[in-house]
Amino acid sequence: MQLLEEKILREGKLLEGNILKVDSFLNHQIDVPFMQKAGEEFKRLFATKNINKILTIEASGIGVAAVVATYFNVPVLYAKKNAGSNMDKDVYATRVYSFTHRKINTVIVSKHLLTAEDRVLIIDDFLANGAAIRGLIDLVRQAGAKVEGIGTIIEKGFQGGGDRLRFDGYQVESLAIVEKMDAATQTIEFRH
Ligand code: 5GP
Repeated sequence: MQLLEEKILREGKLLEGNILKVDSFLNHQIDVPFMQKAGEEFKRLFATKNINKILTIEASGIGVAAVVATYFNVPVLYAKKNAGSNMDKDVYATRVYSFTHRKINTVIVSKHLLTAEDRVLIIDDFLANGAAIRGLIDLVRQAGAKVEGIGTIIEKGFQGGGDRLRFDGYQVESLAIVEKMDAATQTIEFRH
């Protein structure tokens, strides 16, 4: 998406440790009209898929997934990081290494909300090494449901997570793929 690349170049900041900070439209403040454009694009990219549920992960995936879901007219289920006291005990759980927080989280979904009938589109804000998406795939697998596709707003292609998922046969669509980035010079190159 040309518009997204321009937005990243204009508003993104590169931090040490291969972090692209885009808190003006994705990770803190959310540009909803822009996310609607992303939703339209995902709808086009996954037009042949029969999707009945979107799955994402707390916290930054939720806002994006909720907007995208309006284009598919399906509910959004998000994997929770901290099971509260009112959470079902009957859950699927998996462990996910967090790239930004550098720790392992156990994430869960209730068994009654993810079932073998579900055809799932996984949506997240960023795809880097692929740990978050792999965790969500594992939850879908445990439920006996099917992953119909994976959509992310920004993929950092040089970290390889997206290409490993494509190699494994998943349809992975990222609206911008960063091929190179350099915090020292604040330069970004995209894959086309
Ligand atoms: P992965 O699990 O693919 O290594 O990393 C993806 C997760 O880490 C995403 O859910 C996202 O929240 C976070 N993440 C990874 N790289 C970045 C980045 O460069 N910027 C931001 N804001 N989040 C990132």
